[in-house]
Amino acid sequence: MATPIQAVITAIEDRTETVRILTLMPVTPFLFKAGQYARLGMEGFEPRSFSMASRPEKDGRITFHIRNTGGGLSAALGTAKTGTRLTLEGPFGDMDIAHAQNRPVLMVAGGTGIAPMLAMAQEILRQGLTEEGVKLVFGARTQSDVYCRPELDALLSSGEFTLTEAIGDVTPPQALATENTSLNQHVAYLCGPGPMVSSVRDVLLTRGIKASNIFSDDWSKESA
Ligand SMILES: Cc1cc2nc3c(=O)[nH]c(=O)nc-3n(C[C@H](O)[C@H](O)[C@H](O)COP(=O)(O)OP(=O)(O)OC[C@H]3O[C@@H](n4cnc5c(N)ncnc54)[C@H](O)[C@@H]3O)c2cc1C
Repeated sequence: MATPIQAVITAIEDRTETVRILTLMPVTPFLFKAGQYARLGMEGFEPRSFSMASRPEKDGRITFHIRNTGGGLSAALGTAKTGTRLTLEGPFGDMDIAHAQNRPVLMVAGGTGIAPMLAMAQEILRQGLTEEGVKLVFGARTQSDVYCRPELDALLSSGEFTLTEAIGDVTPPQALATENTSLNQHVAYLCGPGPMVSSVRDVLLTRGIKASNIFSDDWSKESA
């Protein structure tokens, strides 16, 4: 396992009461692909996994979407100031946009699970990997939890990206179960809380997608 590298928080943007966007500048280059995640560490806290919300940038900056769960590292990051030093370990993860080549792409995200989807959608469109378009189903508790409206609007303006918001009582698996078109040509990327990822996977299998074409980050893998 590679030694963690040092990084500094260079910008902070609070988008809701519990979600903030952190920009980190690694001290040495941190190489990763859109869709992957890193283990972030801070002195005094157990390291935790967070998905890169940006695609690899020439200047090395990386953004993360952090939900403050009220304890642990996420709460410490929720009050951290610019200049705070962190460690970055990785990258990890199987959500590779190479699988999207010439296929219709379905992304399903819950909450801050949207972070890697933004990075992957931006990179798929930038590389022109598919002419079939990218569809994102985004689950959030309330409208105000759709905290990444500027990033979604930028993707929508490409004309090659469509968005279904599953808000409140309508969860992503429910939204997907109300449609009946076959997904047998699709590749799917899923990210968010474990129960959501598992229910969405079940629905997608009934709609004809091959299990080998589903890639996910299941956050239940890392419980407290
Ligand atoms: C592959 C992967 C990628 C991830 N990417 C992101 C990401 O991009 N953004 C992000 O915000 N998180 C992400 N997570 C979740 C993150 O790694 C932590 O599990 C989460 O931030 C809680 O860690 P903590 O140390 O702050 O809290 P802990 O000390 O583990 O827990 C503190 C309190 O919060 C509760 N809690 C823990 N997790 C959650 C949760 N998800 N929702 C509500 N309450 C919770 C605990 O039960 C406990 O009461 C990802 C997880 C994985 C496995």
